[in-house]
Amino acid sequence: MSVIYNLSIMVTNLHIAIDGPAASGKTATGKKLAIELNINYIDTGMMYRAITYYFHNLVKEYADIKVVENFNFDKNIKIKIDNQNNLLLNNDDISKYLYSDEVTNNVSFYSRIESVRNFLVNEQRLIAQNKDIIMIGRDIGTVVLPSAKYKFFLDCNLESRAERRMKQEKNLRINEENLYKNIDQIKNRDSIDKSRELSPMKPSDDAIIIYNDHIDLNETTNLMKNIVLE
Ligand code: C5P
Repeated sequence: MSVIYNLSIMVTNLHIAIDGPAASGKTATGKKLAIELNINYIDTGMMYRAITYYFHNLVKEYADIKVVENFNFDKNIKIKIDNQNNLLLNNDDISKYLYSDEVTNNVSFYSRIESVRNFLVNEQRLIAQNKDIIMIGRDIGTVVLPSAKYKFFLDCNLESRAERRMKQEKNLRINEENLYKNIDQIKNRDSIDKSRELSPMKPSDDAIIIYNDHIDLNETTNLMKNIVLE
């Protein structure tokens, strides 16, 4: 089946794509860069997580992939991310459920499905239409906004990413068991996200790849900001 996306994107706006594997610092950096450049940002991972939450927790027919493949997303799903970065699914704020283990462990399953990607890529392009925006994800530079003026791909070694994720999960005790759990979760997601047939996670040919193992959030943001302002 061929993939048809809405291609009516204005390329005159400042579009900045930030892609990269799980916990590579995309969201923190994108958020900081957005504040410094005084433009909006949107984390598209939240949207894939919302779809996962919808099927996994609300519909509960997730075992049947055909249900998802044939689902009428346009008719049944309305996703909005407000100014405080809360995600509203059909007008309900579901932000607090998006980072549960259940959603995290299943999101890569849903994000491989063509109907899910068609729906969300169209939504993301509509969000970016006629505005300056930083968009964060896995396929922003390659598929969602291929004409983005700046494309960054952040990467970092697995252990540092797992440690960062652990620090973000404020309720979780920082211990070895949690570190290994995070390493496993990240490894699994990266491997599915990289190897899927549709829009696999990868840097676009014109992306600037930044390894941030040895540079902190401020330095990474400054590096990107200098490139944008030059
Ligand atoms: O960025 P985050 O870890 O919240 O993303 C959750 C998942 O959503 C990813 O592991 C990936 O499967 C999916 N995703 C995607 N394309 C994007 C953003 C996220 O496939 N643009």
